[in-house]
Amino acid sequence: MSKIQFTDLHAQQKRIRPQIDAAIKKVLDHGQYIMGPEVAELEGRLAEFVGVKHCISVASGTDALLMALMAYDVGPGDAVFTTPFTFVATGEVISLLGATPVFVDIDPRTFSIDPQKLEESIINFDQRSTINGQSLTPKGVIPVDLFGLPADYDAINELAKKHDMFVLEDAAQGFGGVYKGRRAASLADVATTSFFPAKPLGCYGDGGAIFTDDDELADILCSIRVHGKGTDKYDNVRIGINGRLDTIQAAILLQKIDIFPSELEARQRVAQTYSKLLQVVPSVLTPVIPDSYASAWAQYSILIQDRDGLQKKLKDASVPTGIYYSKPLHFQAAYLEIGHSPGDFPVSESVSARILSLPMHPYLDDITINLIVEQVNKLL
Ligand SMILES: *Cc1c(COP(=O)(O)O)cnc(C)c1O
Repeated sequence: MSKIQFTDLHAQQKRIRPQIDAAIKKVLDHGQYIMGPEVAELEGRLAEFVGVKHCISVASGTDALLMALMAYDVGPGDAVFTTPFTFVATGEVISLLGATPVFVDIDPRTFSIDPQKLEESIINFDQRSTINGQSLTPKGVIPVDLFGLPADYDAINELAKKHDMFVLEDAAQGFGGVYKGRRAASLADVATTSFFPAKPLGCYGDGGAIFTDDDELADILCSIRVHGKGTDKYDNVRIGINGRLDTIQAAILLQKIDIFPSELEARQRVAQTYSKLLQVVPSVLTPVIPDSYASAWAQYSILIQDRDGLQKKLKDASVPTGIYYSKPLHFQAAYLEIGHSPGDFPVSESVSARILSLPMHPYLDDITINLIVEQVNKLL
């Protein structure tokens, strides 16, 4: 029996290695390493897959978030609402622009930002609330499609519209997921994703993309991507960054997107098998997928009381696991200055202490899943 992998990028590479080699060779042959033809081709394919008008490929999922906020002119004095139960990048970009993240607790079943608490937070938001003497204006919301499951966008979009705020969907983990017949990354004013290797659709380095139906926003994003370019790159009409996706990564992604639908199906099969087998372990809570949602299964995460104990025992039994996230953002050293206390976001805090992600990738076979569940059952 080979070693159990938490994510198995090697199995995937083996499946498409000849295509990957040919695609990279083609880029080496034409030599257009920056914004080569593969970049536009990929953007077309991704926009079509998601079902939106514009895809702007970028250098990472973090740059994608940053650039989307820049396109909405987010800066000092602006408040952006998001979840504390996410990867740090979601909050980091808000702070990087000098704006203030306002955390809102999550739904205990889906782990996404809780629309009801979001409403309370927006309504109770004191327009005069100040950070260092400066008043704050509610400007936008960043829901996160955590572990691959889209947030509740109908509720969130309606709220945001009512309060004149934009919604930025962080689909770094959700790419490939579905919400009420629509693909993740098409569910808000603007959406971002990441092609970090371990994400559902990953490249062989850093990469990301931004999606929108808004023509004007797409134009601004293309400008921000190349140093705020105007008519050409030596005409600079706004402050931008170097946010481009490498041609080689685009060429690799073009090969991966061909097998992505079959990989999503395989992830779905793995998740269903886990959930079925785990029914025999009553102390484990399995993921909840609401009706008319589909997860991209970036992670398969369970809730258990003695999480740290189980993780250690599984490690000794050669079953790798992950903890996303053991520290909600309001407990991170970088965010201590906001001044939150334990108990401010009770659901995020409780979930952080109990969450455990099991091995999840499209190449996990039934025998291995059985073995993992057997170990969980035995060691609990
Ligand atoms: C991975 C991730 C990001 C950042 O993507 P990078 O490509 O690593 O910069 C942002 N948000 C979430 C929720 C993520 O999981």
